[in-house]
Amino acid sequence: MIPNSFDYVAAKSLDEALTLLGKHKDDAKLLAGGHSLIPAMKLRLAQPQVLIDISRIKELAYIREEGGQIRIGAMTTHYQIESSDLLRRVCPLLPEAATHLGDVQVRNKGTIGGSLAHADPAADWPAAVLALDADLVIAGGKGERVIKADKFFVGLLTTALEQAEILREIRFTAPKGRVGQCYKKFRHPASGFAVVGAAVSLSLDGSGKCQSAGVGITGVSPKSYRAHAVENALQGASLDSKSLSSAAAHATDGVDANTDLFASGEYRRHLAEVYTRRALQEAAGRAK
Ligand SMILES: Cc1cc2nc3c(=O)[nH]c(=O)nc-3n(C[C@H](O)[C@H](O)[C@H](O)COP(=O)(O)OP(=O)(O)OC[C@H]3O[C@@H](n4cnc5c(N)ncnc54)[C@H](O)[C@@H]3O)c2cc1C
Repeated sequence: MIPNSFDYVAAKSLDEALTLLGKHKDDAKLLAGGHSLIPAMKLRLAQPQVLIDISRIKELAYIREEGGQIRIGAMTTHYQIESSDLLRRVCPLLPEAATHLGDVQVRNKGTIGGSLAHADPAADWPAAVLALDADLVIAGGKGERVIKADKFFVGLLTTALEQAEILREIRFTAPKGRVGQCYKKFRHPASGFAVVGAAVSLSLDGSGKCQSAGVGITGVSPKSYRAHAVENALQGASLDSKSLSSAAAHATDGVDANTDLFASGEYRRHLAEVYTRRALQEAAGRAK
């Protein structure tokens, strides 16, 4: 349980971190909260020769609303999101999801950017940013690019991040009007990670019908995904219990569910439907 030896350097700015990444290339790994990377290093699943610590870069830790958009810096900790008055008011899905994540220590050190970049298939943040249809802002040596959350998660522990790129910001349109959100999670009894997690953001029109729906699901398959079939089934629907249940039945359409010692693929698919339905029902109730 002792990692390989490595060099350590603390970057003071995003530019310095990018320069260091460009210099050390595949030999380097970014260190954010360290709550996924350090365990992986102790197990020797990751053996970087250089750790570039980005946790002290103050310009990467913020939560703000600008021009109708919510912007969250990648180094914002889980706890900062959980305790943000702005988010509790404008986008309660994120503080709610944060409360499900690990324990107090993990929430105080771990960062949203580190979690998204790590792309654990059972992590909570991917479901939430998918439900919010968030844009992820990625900084690289040649400038920035923006990618939709839906395109960011590529596979097991794999994202669209290229070598020498840093996830800088998560941003999304601030939900307005009659909005209801909810995150429901079936925790693994040992690890606390999601066997299944369903994040929902609904907006209603003046007559109480569904104007738009965002549904993100984690834990089921090698990568978290946006449940488009559930979203499509809800479009224009009255949010009664029958329509919510029939939409939730599409939670795993087109998805290969993981099987492991704890849960078969069939059980995971069942849980995904049940937890999506519960999240939809609660979100619909909150929007009224
Ligand atoms: C006991 C325990 C319980 C946990 N429970 C949960 C849980 O219930 N739900 C859950 O979702 N998570 C859980 N986690 C994981 C936790 O949320 C981690 O904090 C998170 O997954 C990684 O964030 P980090 O800031 O610690 O990143 P690190 O561990 O520092 O980095 C993770 C990876 O991302 C890369 N990286 C980091 N930041 C960036 C960036 N800005 N741009 C590009 N690459 C970057 C690193 O190089 C590394 O490869 C748990 C962890 C522990 C130890």
